[in-house]
Amino acid sequence: MSNSIVLPETENHFFGDVCQFFDHAAQFTHLDAGLLDQIRSCNSVYRFRFPIRKGNGFEVIDAWRIEHSHHQSPTKGGIRYSEMVNEDEVMALAALMTYKCAIVNVPFGGAKGGIKINPKKYSEQELENITRRYTVELIKKNFIGPSIDVPAPDYGTGEREMGWIADTYATMNPGQGDALGCVTGKPIALHGIAGRREATGRGVAIATRECVSVAEDMKKLGLMPGITGKRVIVQGMGNVGFYSAKFLAEFGALIVGICEFEGAIYNEDGLDIDTVFEHRKATGSILGYPLTMQEFKNSGEGLEQPCDILVPAALENQITGDNIGRIQAKIIVEGANGPTSPEAEAIFTARGGIIVPDMYANAGGVTVSYFEWLKNLSHVSFGRINRRFEETASLNLVNMVEGLTGVALTPMQRATIVKGASELELVNSGLEDTMIRSYHEIRETYISNPKIDTLRTAAFVVAINKIAVSYKNLGVWP
Ligand code: NAD
Repeated sequence: MSNSIVLPETENHFFGDVCQFFDHAAQFTHLDAGLLDQIRSCNSVYRFRFPIRKGNGFEVIDAWRIEHSHHQSPTKGGIRYSEMVNEDEVMALAALMTYKCAIVNVPFGGAKGGIKINPKKYSEQELENITRRYTVELIKKNFIGPSIDVPAPDYGTGEREMGWIADTYATMNPGQGDALGCVTGKPIALHGIAGRREATGRGVAIATRECVSVAEDMKKLGLMPGITGKRVIVQGMGNVGFYSAKFLAEFGALIVGICEFEGAIYNEDGLDIDTVFEHRKATGSILGYPLTMQEFKNSGEGLEQPCDILVPAALENQITGDNIGRIQAKIIVEGANGPTSPEAEAIFTARGGIIVPDMYANAGGVTVSYFEWLKNLSHVSFGRINRRFEETASLNLVNMVEGLTGVALTPMQRATIVKGASELELVNSGLEDTMIRSYHEIRETYISNPKIDTLRTAAFVVAINKIAVSYKNLGVWP
């Protein structure tokens, strides 16, 4: 099938790459070509510019919000602040959101937003002005709302920006009871949800653990099954990279390398992620971290050091035909969106490597965003209504069993059984269940047909089939 999107020649090819993966997988779905075209295309592309005051003058800011698919409502996807943002990139990221939501059974269409700025070059006040003005532009065109399109954090944004968006939307929509459901990834005090900040990284760690737990797949790579002792290199110490490394270490993996903008550090005995983070906060760089065995001024070299698993968690197009030959990892778990080019993937998988694809691996963020949105619409935190009731019910059961058996539990045993679940425990349990189930759904599709060459192709097949069902059920109007 031909790619109907015409891109400016100067722009990059990220959306084209996503379409290439899509088209490859589409052959295994046997769906109508027109339906496939509808699924693959970006439905609504909103490109706009607005001025801000900068010093004594003005500056014009370029921005986008792109809704890729409306087979489910609302649409959902993060907002990126980066000097490198362009239309092609936002289209690609919006498309990945559509497939990601389908894979983890989150009932949203895909969307993405971008503002072409380097946030480090603006004061907090200027960033607040930019964020609020961006939100107003979205409101004007009906590109935001709890039932319309719900942004979230992405590269260069976080809870602070989501708080500004929520406040702007609520202010502009007085009396709308569900207004705070217009954005997720908010601070907890502004009706965010426990566990959202670390959700993407936690999901990446669970995805990795699930992948390495399959003995027959590990045997083909010459690795022992299980996460314990697996050597991992992580690229990016932002939200996704930091929490991926932290939870992987908690699960028993050894973080041997960390790559950031300014360079990379490596220690085959393992690096302590919290102290590396503190060191960077204090000095502005990961370089110079005292417990490093090797450091590299060229960050890319860090990716090429000995390890079992590489977790790119910074930006797209980091593993390409240029460096894939030097990558020593046997497994790549894509924390970032689009970090591996199609050419690199073909080379890596031809030599037996496994890639756990972005649209599944980093779907923990949108999964917990979904929980946050549900919390905002129901206006009650998870566990609040049933926690005490469940504790009392468990206590009654424990008392009854003790009475019948004559065996008394220790206070610790009693506390463990009786304790009701907190919001964080419920969120983490929902996240873990989603990540585990989705991995095996993808893997089963992968092994069901020898022609399905990669987990990414399988993930696309799973996603496309689910989206097609939605479109078929909706029919075509008028
Ligand atoms: P972030 O802004 O919190 O962190 C990104 C980090 O990567 C920064 O520390 C930056 O300095 C570093 N970095 C940039 N270029 C680099 C390079 N060339 N080498 C090494 N490090 C580099 O962003 P984030 O939210 O962690 O997002 C990272 C990736 O994960 C993006 O692709 C994003 O789309 C994806 N993602 C994020 C979320 C989320 O919930 N935040 C969810 C799904 C996917």
